Amino acid sequence: MRRVALAARPKGAVTPDCFRIEELPMPQPGPGQFLVRVIWLSLDPYMRGRMDESKSYAKGVEIGETMQGGAVGEVIASNHPGFAVGEFVVGPFGWATHALSDGEGVRKLDPARAPISTALGVLGMPGHTAWVGLNDIGQPRAGETLVVGAATGAVGQVVGQLAKARGLRAVGVAGGPDKCRYAVEELGFDACIDHRAAPDAKALRAQLAEACPDGVDIYYENVGGKTLEAVIPLMNVHGRIPVCGMISWYDLGGLGMGEVPGPDRLPRVWRTILVQRLKVQGFIIFDHNDRFAPFEEEVSAMIRDGRLKYRETIAEGLDAAPEAFIAMLKGGNLGKQLVRVSDD
Ligand code: NDP
Repeated sequence: MRRVALAARPKGAVTPDCFRIEELPMPQPGPGQFLVRVIWLSLDPYMRGRMDESKSYAKGVEIGETMQGGAVGEVIASNHPGFAVGEFVVGPFGWATHALSDGEGVRKLDPARAPISTALGVLGMPGHTAWVGLNDIGQPRAGETLVVGAATGAVGQVVGQLAKARGLRAVGVAGGPDKCRYAVEELGFDACIDHRAAPDAKALRAQLAEACPDGVDIYYENVGGKTLEAVIPLMNVHGRIPVCGMISWYDLGGLGMGEVPGPDRLPRVWRTILVQRLKVQGFIIFDHNDRFAPFEEEVSAMIRDGRLKYRETIAEGLDAAPEAFIAMLKGGNLGKQLVRVSDD
């Protein structure tokens, strides 16, 4: 079997030498275990945080350990009464061609219901994140305006389409004219602003203000940085900000309060939260497992009848994972970034 191990912690941006590809003997399942042949590996922004030493909501990867990650695969040997050879599963199998599991955090998939890769994207963790963040935290109401960054990514593509389905005006922020065109023409966003073409937050704000003539009621926060700075002054009274991620700052790693270079914008942010009576709530999707079933029911029905579209960007072979991960963090993906580790 092959695996990708963490070779070194990144200093700022992730570089290829942070990873090491290794060949290991094929593991054999012990009592209560099964062996999975990985088919699809998910590449997600949270993995950037797991590469750092600093404390977060989950334990990081140690140097020399297999990179953590969700994956879809097939059971090829089993000593577990609940998992039989030939079954398809999704679970935390990591960046590897094969993995042993005791079933913890593993869910069975029915390949007749949906392509199995969707269990890592639109019908998996990112789709669930979009649904919970928008509905439970954002509390959307028809007629309101939503802004979401990384609008054509795994989470953003679902947030925008769900918002439209609930009668909101949906405005995306994405990197580059092709992504913006895709957001409007294919995903049905009302407008999409190219953050890479805007020289600074002020320029981005002017474009967003034009796209949001009634202000912003929900800012679904995926990116932080220039986009957050542009949106804050546009927030309406009683607006909501589900804080899902802040990818533009992930390379700051473990820098603490007051250590981040640049001007201090906290007073302006804090004042706006008070004056506009905003509700700002961070959330981590693994606290919301009880909401998986209603999410899956609604979104799979929307996919079936064509009301919700999705894209996947596919890298070929496990060895391509480091490069694809680095590219995804910089915006190389449209929709969900996957690696095809073996044939399905
Ligand atoms: P995406 O598929 O959206 O991929 C990441 C995207 O981030 C890139 O394609 C790029 O899009 C965008 N991006 C990168 N750098 C910047 C930047 N400097 N400024 C603005 N955008 C940038 O990833 P996901 O959909 O999987 O994740 C989206 C967000 O949701 C992330 O912040 C992630 O950490 C978070 N998340 C949080 C969860 C939770 O439980 N709270 C669970 C899952 C995801 P573009 O080219 O458009 O800039």
